[in-house]
Amino acid sequence: RSNAEKFEFQAEVSRLMDIIINSLYSNKDIFLRELISNASDALDKIRFLSLTDKEVLGEGDNTKLDIQIKLDKEKKILSIRDRGIGMTKEDLIKNLGTIAKSGTSAFVEKMQTSGDLNLIGQFGVGFYSVYLVADYVEVISKHNDDKQYVWESKADGAFAISEDTWNEPLGRGTEIRLHLKDEAGEYLEESKLKELVKRYSEFINFPIYIWASKEVDVEVPADEDDSSEEEDSESSSKEESEDEDADKSDDEEKKPKTKTVKETTYEWELLNDVKAIWLRNPKDVTDEEYTKFYHSLAKDFSAEKPLAWSHFTAEGDVEFKAVLFVPPKAPHDLYEGYYNSNKSNLKLYVRRVFISDEFDELLPKYLSFLKGLVDSDTLPLNVSREMLQQHSSLKTIKKKLIRKALDMIRRIADEDPDESSDKEKKEEVASDNDEKKGQYTKFWNEFGKSIKLGIIEDATNRNRLAKLLRFESTKSEGKLTSLDQYISRMKAGQKDIFYITGTSKEQLEKSPFLERLKKKNYEVIFFTDPVDEYLMQYLMDYEDKKFQNVSKEGLKLGKDSKDKELKESFKDLTKWWKKALSGDNVDDVKISNRLDNTPCVVVTSKFGWSANMERIMQSQTL
Ligand code: ADP
Ligand code: MG
Repeated sequence: RSNAEKFEFQAEVSRLMDIIINSLYSNKDIFLRELISNASDALDKIRFLSLTDKEVLGEGDNTKLDIQIKLDKEKKILSIRDRGIGMTKEDLIKNLGTIAKSGTSAFVEKMQTSGDLNLIGQFGVGFYSVYLVADYVEVISKHNDDKQYVWESKADGAFAISEDTWNEPLGRGTEIRLHLKDEAGEYLEESKLKELVKRYSEFINFPIYIWASKEVDVEVPADEDDSSEEEDSESSSKEESEDEDADKSDDEEKKPKTKTVKETTYEWELLNDVKAIWLRNPKDVTDEEYTKFYHSLAKDFSAEKPLAWSHFTAEGDVEFKAVLFVPPKAPHDLYEGYYNSNKSNLKLYVRRVFISDEFDELLPKYLSFLKGLVDSDTLPLNVSREMLQQHSSLKTIKKKLIRKALDMIRRIADEDPDESSDKEKKEEVASDNDEKKGQYTKFWNEFGKSIKLGIIEDATNRNRLAKLLRFESTKSEGKLTSLDQYISRMKAGQKDIFYITGTSKEQLEKSPFLERLKKKNYEVIFFTDPVDEYLMQYLMDYEDKKFQNVSKEGLKLGKDSKDKELKESFKDLTKWWKKALSGDNVDDVKISNRLDNTPCVVVTSKFGWSANMERIMQSQTL
């Protein structure tokens, strides 16, 4: 178009589009759920604004918050339209030309190798999946603050924007027109689209309509061979109306001659029933429904089931319903910018209206890996996000959510037959919980670090979190074990929980610090994650047992009768040695009972940094 303004895509977008348009990826269906998800987001936005300003919705059809799908078989166009917030010209340039989220290059890289586009929605680039099925796309959009514009691109590195002077005015919202590739003809079939909407967009909270054809029987005047009948038929229809006026005539003879023919008509057909799964009684919701709901909520369509979920109603001063999920996998950037960014993944609704998914007041950072939603009747609807953020109820909600979340995680362990050390119980649990087997190890491998960060950050729930802790030890035989299991194996008279820190289990197993402990059959925990050093500065005790780093001063392995004697006879040597190393080098030189073969070791003082901590601080791992 002559007056169109031309723009180039950000290099990264261009690369992404190249890959998508040339993709042989077989599951091209995903574009539709991405478009519907965007439409739904846009509708959420306008509905939220309308809470404080009714005017934004306008009037007439503009107030209908729905999504419409239409097909043009002849022109091979599939269009999806919403009455959401729309995009200004500036929005179009920014949102459909650049990538805001980080981690996109990682995604592009991954896609090039694996070819799996399923996770595209999680990376904030779902829109571009339209180029799986279309080679030319138009986005027509009208935002309340601007005129109507058309964005268009053939995925050739550039896009154009023009003020829209030729299409029908949208009123408000966005229409995406996909000019389908020849090989994407299946998306012109109503039945295909209906199936896709049912499969992928079941939990969209706005009505989705399709402009559906329908074969209907219509009565038409029967054709008569004789053209002279024309007058007759006219008169007979006259007769009919006269009949009606005359009220009910049973005389068949007087009825006009008609016949039935098939005719195709079109009408909007509703494809989803807008149901809020969280309002239903948990007893009536099937596992499959929860799984599907999780997929749509998390934009995670990797067929995997969530590891656990919790669906509950909180009553009392603050009433709310919530559904929480533990995802099957940690997102790639879970700990990226952990301390600076807010990555809460809970959606907040107030009385069924979506408010925000950026409320970091709902869950502490360490639980940000959870997905889910909260719908509260107690929170006010007509206030700004900022005001809501300060509402006193949020504290109560948060407290309850944490409690429920930790219960849910603990349940993964409780139901996992691998977790039970009691053999009989193990078998009993195993019989009806086969699919729960190994789930806690899976959880731990994905999210264990979050539990550790929780112990560091959340003093109130420290003990609850410590119960969830898993590690390897000198007695765990390559498996994960827990503090409770450690305690159950403690030797009579053993007061402390022993642990050692280092870079790997293999390295630690050779440590001279373990010699004597092993010989005396004491169990020692291996902590090999850099975060463990910090963890152990916060985790002082568990079930009245103190933690003792075996490479630090203070290790007590029970009294030995020879201790005193030895101390006496080596007095001169230790004195001399301390003098020789005095100054900055050592605090003290002592006779030790922690060694067996090794003649001497360097031990850290009780409140000093362990050797491992020194190493970590030098490399600034965390
Ligand atoms: P994401 O939805 O994760 O942000 P997308 O690539 O799907 O990533 O969309 C990019 C952006 O384009 C959205 O964040 C939104 O701002 C804008 N957008 C896309 N579709 C619509 C729409 N139907 N209405 C309004 N804005 C839209
Ligand atoms: Mg999207």
